[in-house]
Amino acid sequence: MRKWLRQVTSCEESELLMEEQLNQPLSSKQWLGLRLHLAMCSACRKSLRYARSIRQWLRSGARDEEALSPEAMERIRQALDREL
Ligand SMILES: [Zn+2]
Repeated sequence: MRKWLRQVTSCEESELLMEEQLNQPLSSKQWLGLRLHLAMCSACRKSLRYARSIRQWLRSGARDEEALSPEAMERIRQALDREL
């Protein structure tokens, strides 16, 4: 099982997907592959904490929102909405 899942989405691919979903919505296949990988890979779940901290940061009100363009903020919000 574990081995099979690793073949579906590698750690490297997962990291790329986690970054990519901040910029653009993932395809359902990409999203599923990422979720499956995260379900069994503790290393990548740690990486996801970074994404979660961004989500909390967005919800709590960005402290340095001016660093991001409104378009970038909206893309991130949409990506996070999809992920929830
Ligand atoms: Zn991994």
